[in-house]
Amino acid sequence: MDFPSLKEHDLQEYAFTCAQCSFCQVGHGACPTYKVKRRDSFSGKGKMMLTRALMQGRIRPSEGLEGLRDAIFGCTLCGGCEEICQVDIPFVKIYQVMRNDFLKRGMWPEELSMTKEILLKSNNIQGQAQMDRIEGWSYWTPNEDELLDKQGTPAKTAFFFGCASSFRGISIQATIATTLIMDKIEEKYTVLGEEEYCCGAPLIMTGDFEGARALAEHNIQKYKELGVERIITNCPGCYKMWAHEYHEFLDIDHGFEIVYGYQYLADLLDEGKLTGLNTPLDVTVTYHDGCDAGRNSGFYEEPRKVLEYLPGVTFEELPHNKANCFCCGSGGVLRAVDADFANQISRLKVEDIEATNADIVSSGCPSCVDFMADQLPQAGVNKPVKDLAVLVAQALGLTWDGLDEIYG
Ligand code: SF4
Ligand code: SF4
Repeated sequence: MDFPSLKEHDLQEYAFTCAQCSFCQVGHGACPTYKVKRRDSFSGKGKMMLTRALMQGRIRPSEGLEGLRDAIFGCTLCGGCEEICQVDIPFVKIYQVMRNDFLKRGMWPEELSMTKEILLKSNNIQGQAQMDRIEGWSYWTPNEDELLDKQGTPAKTAFFFGCASSFRGISIQATIATTLIMDKIEEKYTVLGEEEYCCGAPLIMTGDFEGARALAEHNIQKYKELGVERIITNCPGCYKMWAHEYHEFLDIDHGFEIVYGYQYLADLLDEGKLTGLNTPLDVTVTYHDGCDAGRNSGFYEEPRKVLEYLPGVTFEELPHNKANCFCCGSGGVLRAVDADFANQISRLKVEDIEATNADIVSSGCPSCVDFMADQLPQAGVNKPVKDLAVLVAQALGLTWDGLDEIYG
């Protein structure tokens, strides 16, 4: 049988290049889904073997296609297999393209149809009112008036929040922290407010490339109208869309400079533009490399550099860190497809966190922060999970009402 989308993207040959070394199953920090399921098809190798067998007609579609579909969507797109593979199979792209194939075959998981409907009706993945992107929490911030005034104003720099950072209580703290930091250094920037639509990541990641096009085009047009040249975002999932995947899957070249929020903060600190880090935090902090920030985009050093600047911080790496960091479980839209499975994967992360002396778990990904903050207490671990921007704001002596409400 054929996989037309793989063919269209010139990726079908990769099903025949796997050397069957099994590094992607047993390597340090390798595949979290295989570690939980212990089934070959949930590893990179297994998915390639099954795809190859179907292509060669050694397994009939009625015997293997549904299982392959479950494995392709039962993956966090963490990039662990791609990182470790000795023959450099571009797994993350392959999985997204294969998800597109299953969509065209009418085999998209039912749960995703519901997610898509919510997203396209509300223009955000939470299904909330768009006006709440700022007004849902701006009363928490001391810069409320300035922030509301920035909506839709022309500027060369834009701060793109992303859905988690607009609507999830704990992730919003990093958005507030970042706006306060940007105001402190007198950065001139714009925000779209209710005109900011989801970047489309939940659709692009699940293979519905065309479903994401209108969302991407809306945001691009809004920024062009405002004269924007540079877009800063704290969300590495949004970053990946803006920096790479609009081009890769939608053939859109928007021409904006895209900056990951912690690259922005690290540069400000290095250039001496962000001073006044005078409040010692007096904590031991570990750092979780979210997959889209780390393996999928290569931002390993920038977040660690930010932590180095913070007074009173003792840093301790997780046992699995940087390229070997375990996914928290929330990647690849797995929470929407199979929440129990995502929860099981998070236990690997919990074990890693428990092996450190950290008082606080930090990350540079709003979705990871949100998911880990949800999962750690359920596993009996009472360590706060904080976004790096929140720690920077605290070291600057900045505070706001929401901070106390969330972290007590
Ligand atoms: S992307 Fe991650 S979860 Fe998916 S198969 Fe590869 S290592 Fe496993
Ligand atoms: S690491 Fe690469 S070559 Fe080795 S089994 Fe996995 S997919 Fe095949």
